[in-house]
Amino acid sequence: MSGILYLVPTPIGNLGDISHRCAETLAAADFIAAEDTRVSLKLLNHLDIKKPLVSYHEHNKKESGSRILERLLTGETCALVTDAGCPAISDPGEDLVRLCAEAGVSVCAIPGPCAAITALSVSALATGRFAFEGFLPFSKKERRERLERLKAEERTMIFYEAPHRLRDTLAELLSAFGPERPVSLCRELTKLHEEILRMTLDEAVAFYAANEPRGEYVLVVAGAERAVEAVSLEQAVALVQALIANGTRTKDAVKQIAEETGVAKNALYAAVVSG
Ligand code: SAM
Repeated sequence: MSGILYLVPTPIGNLGDISHRCAETLAAADFIAAEDTRVSLKLLNHLDIKKPLVSYHEHNKKESGSRILERLLTGETCALVTDAGCPAISDPGEDLVRLCAEAGVSVCAIPGPCAAITALSVSALATGRFAFEGFLPFSKKERRERLERLKAEERTMIFYEAPHRLRDTLAELLSAFGPERPVSLCRELTKLHEEILRMTLDEAVAFYAANEPRGEYVLVVAGAERAVEAVSLEQAVALVQALIANGTRTKDAVKQIAEETGVAKNALYAAVVSG
């Protein structure tokens, strides 16, 4: 019978957040797969746990994943940890979970710290429906396309960001979502210098023009407001015509009004050009 892969969340800053069950699982596992063995060794020393460690990270996940799977298939149990937070959420683990699932090996996820959920819960924004976006793509073009697709997203959005990219990202969010969009900037969660800033995107850009971004950030951004009243096609056409009269190109005017009113873009365009 095959063993079990345990997903063990670790503290995102405060060592006190390691749960009793997580510690027990680490102590009971045959071996621990860690993103950075030096980081995890500190936690294991703190818990006074001595276990064989293997490394499993973004750059060796294929070979290391196969070796871990082989051991699981012989009946060993493995606890997977990453540098901080919940394994498989914007860090290595997703592929290993899939590999195990495909091979019929049981995967057991233990609940625990996750920066996204911690930030969402303290954001003071709507939590009923949310979209986890993790890190935006690295290339500028892909980032712009991703944000373009998110313009009309009504759910609260959660982004991860590193301090050296925060200013650029805020500027890009502002240009995609507009200056008035509320954002909660959750910095250094659970750590000594934890800080939650709740402001609009233009205020955030101004704040970080004057202040150096420091530490780890989760950005929680309010979703787009749903058009309060249903707008008829005729009303939408009138709105487009008003924009055109003010010098906006037809295509841009149709796109903007379609986004703002929820009226289908193709139907709106057809109605506008047919006069
Ligand atoms: N798997 C982790 C989780 O469950 O939260 C996330 C790992 S991801 C590689 C690291 C990112 O998480 C950081 O760049 C930052 O955006 C966010 N993060 C992690 N710890 C944080 C903290 N204490 N405060 C704010 N953001 C944090």
